[in-house]
Formats: sequence, C-alpha cells, structure tokens
Amino acid sequence: MSLKIIQKSLDSLPWREQLRKNFRQLSSFISYLELTAEQAKQLISKPRFALNVPFRLAQKMRKGDIDDPIFKQFVPTNQEELTHPDFTDNPVGDIASRKESKLLHKYHGRALILVSSACVMNCRYCFRQHFPYESEQKGFIKELELIRQDPTIHEVLLSGGDPLSLSDQNIYELLNALAAISHVKRVRFHTRFPVGIPQRIDESFLKVIASSPLQLYFVLHINHPNELGEDLFDRLRQLQKLGVILLNQAVLLKGVNDQVATLVTLCEQLANHGVLPYYLNQLDKVAGSVHFEVEEKFGLQLIKEMAKQLPGYAVPKYIREIAGEPFKTVL
Ligand code: SF4
Repeated sequence: MSLKIIQKSLDSLPWREQLRKNFRQLSSFISYLELTAEQAKQLISKPRFALNVPFRLAQKMRKGDIDDPIFKQFVPTNQEELTHPDFTDNPVGDIASRKESKLLHKYHGRALILVSSACVMNCRYCFRQHFPYESEQKGFIKELELIRQDPTIHEVLLSGGDPLSLSDQNIYELLNALAAISHVKRVRFHTRFPVGIPQRIDESFLKVIASSPLQLYFVLHINHPNELGEDLFDRLRQLQKLGVILLNQAVLLKGVNDQVATLVTLCEQLANHGVLPYYLNQLDKVAGSVHFEVEEKFGLQLIKEMAKQLPGYAVPKYIREIAGEPFKTVL
C-alpha cells in the first residue's frame, strides 16, 4: 500500500478512534519526534497541565526540532517553570464572572456556558488551564434557567474546554433548549477541536447543526498556517454550506507566530476559505506561559505591517482581555 493510501485510510477513521491516537505519554512522543537526549532533557515529564497532542498535529511537527511552531504550542518545556507575579491561575477574571457553576456572564447581551472541561488538545498557553471546572453536576439546568430569566441575553457562547467534546446528542439537546428561549438568537461555538481532529465534523454532527433554527457562529482557534490543510477546510466547508459563519481567533505567541509573514499567510489562507480573521489576542497572563509573551509595542507593529499587505477584512483586531472591563480592549 502506498503512503497516500495508508494516510487516507487513517483519515477516514471516526473521530473517537482518532482521539485514541492522541499522544499523552511523553516517552512515546519523544521517540515519535526523534528527539535527542539533550532535547528531551528540556521537556517536563509530569507537568501541572498534562501533555495531550492530537496525532494530526504531531504529524505536522518537524522531526527533531523543538523550535517547530506547533511543537512549541503543545509540548511542556522547562520554560513553563518561569514565574512572574502578573501571571496567575485566574488571568481574565473568569471566577468573578461565574454566575452558576457552568455559566460566565461578563458582557452585555452575551453569556457563556462552560459545556465541558475536556479538550482534544492541551495548549500550553491556555488561559483556562487552571480553571476549577464543575465536574459533578451533569447537564445545564441552572445555567439555562439563568439565561431564560435574563431577556438581555441574545447570544450564548459554548466554550470550555471544547464544546465539541460533548456528544452529538448532548449538543443537540443543548441547542434545542437554547432555541426554546425566545430572546436567544445566536449561538457561538468556541472550538479548536477540528484543528486537532477534523473528522469531528462528521455527518451526525452536521445533522445536529442543520437542525438548529438559531444563527450559529464558530470561532475557531488557529495560530499558525502549519495547522491548516485541505482535510480541515473540507470539513469547514460542510459547516459553511449550512449557513454557519466561521471566524478565527489567534493568540500572539513568541516563537510561534510573532512574524509578519506568518500572520499574513495565516490570515490570507483563512480568508481564501471564507474564515474571517477576527481577533489576534494578546496573551492572557496565565501561570506557566511567561515565555510566550510578546510585547504589545511589537504586536502593534505586526498589525501595522499586516494592514499593508491584507484587505481590511482580513486584518484581525488586536485585542487584550482586561479582567472587569465591559468589553475586550482593542490595542
Ligand atoms: S483548545 Fe482552547 S480550551 Fe483547549 S487547551 Fe487549547 S486554548 Fe485551552
């Protein structure tokens, strides 16, 4: 069998089987990536936030290269031990805006349900990596009740963790419950799942999406053009055919995407496929991510250079979230 055919049959596995191929053991990951003993010494074997890398993304990392932009996003290194008083476990005030165990209400008109603590990948800079998720209570009865009681809420964000970690049946029930609240008009999924396992957007999931009368948005999270591929775009196209609006948010990360050419390529490729570059986020100061921070002054220069090369709609807003502020701050 040729390599292409083997790859194709791997790609056609259902998403739950793809999930089983995630790398969770550092030792097997080190040998897969053919790292030297010297390189392996720079990695943390038992990090506070576990190793969790989808096979698709591991395949996109250059072997033997710990400076690879995808490697840096997912693999725990000694740099995570750097501390700074500004970098904390609760960097954007999520705890203060918690109105129910799984409901955050920060901004006017919108509320966010933490639908799952689970993710298909663990990004080293994740601002919720230390969040104390509610794991006992099943379902969203209290959260839906609060949304029902507040007619100012017109949009509900499904976040986590990753909302696509839920089963299709649970997503279906949640979308139905939201559609039954007359003042809720839009639902926004915040997801990185398809980047790790595009097969998550399968026929069964698409049926669930097609059945919702609400206007649906998907805000994807893609930081580097190496994360893209036709396998991903093919699945996203299925969502677009159903009228789902696709946006992307990226996080500005030192050593990953802090170059004009990288960001321009990313935004251009997204725009080519009907995914609007929505936000470039300044890093949220979460403990363990000090090494990823890019100075704001430098970020502003990057945006200026991007604006010279891209149409206006393809230049993301450069923003930062400040705890307690009533909206995201445009930099
Ligand atoms: S996919 Fe999103 S929620 Fe999950 S670890 Fe990455 S940044 Fe955090």
